[in-house]
Amino acid sequence: MTALSEGVGAALDAVRARIDAAAARAGRDPAAVTLVAVSKTHGPEAVRAAYARGQRDFGENYVQELVAKADGLADLVDLRWHFIGHLQTNKCRDVAGRVAMVQTVDSARLARELGRRAVAVGRTVGILVQVNVAREAQKSGCEVGELAAILAEAEATPGVALRGLMTVPPAAGDPAASRPWFEALRALRDEHGGASRLPELSMGMTHDMAEAVAAGATMVRVGTAIFGAR
Ligand SMILES: *Cc1c(COP(=O)(O)O)cnc(C)c1O
Repeated sequence: MTALSEGVGAALDAVRARIDAAAARAGRDPAAVTLVAVSKTHGPEAVRAAYARGQRDFGENYVQELVAKADGLADLVDLRWHFIGHLQTNKCRDVAGRVAMVQTVDSARLARELGRRAVAVGRTVGILVQVNVAREAQKSGCEVGELAAILAEAEATPGVALRGLMTVPPAAGDPAASRPWFEALRALRDEHGGASRLPELSMGMTHDMAEAVAAGATMVRVGTAIFGAR
């Protein structure tokens, strides 16, 4: 084993253990929390190392980087890519054929374009609607007031399958500061049809993953704790 694969493997095990412990403390089934390993800026060999340790869900933020990695790692046939960065409509074509899920849909227009591109390549792409729960200026994600219309449009759009909600709370040093925003996303899920309509809640990163799991996350997106600093 190389140093890289040992380091990534051990870090991955430690992160999984933290998630499992947080789930147990919250009385939740650890298997109900999917770890998305965020590999942005790290090379394909880091992804291979995590894959070799059993990791299957990976997140990328930049279209060009996603395309290069997805194509270079196409031999890992059961690997699932999640797009978690800001997506422009003119890049939907590049992601539609490669990802299992786009977690950052923040408009009906984006859902429609993604769906159109997915249908063209004979696929269905899972989507999460990203919500700007803290109403931060210049932040990605739809406004709370736009959510109902986007959800309804997404459900009516061929080529995309609505799976839930995603958020990135305001940056804060204290992980506990994220908790109210995670609770807010869960409350929105409950207001808009609950887990039967929106089974996935993607929230929590390296510093606040335990808070997110306690608040009901079904997906946590963790980069630094697995692959190291960027
Ligand atoms: C980079 C990124 C992550 C991972 O962040 P870490 O702090 O490295 O765990 C999660 N979600 C999104 C949307 C990101 O851009």
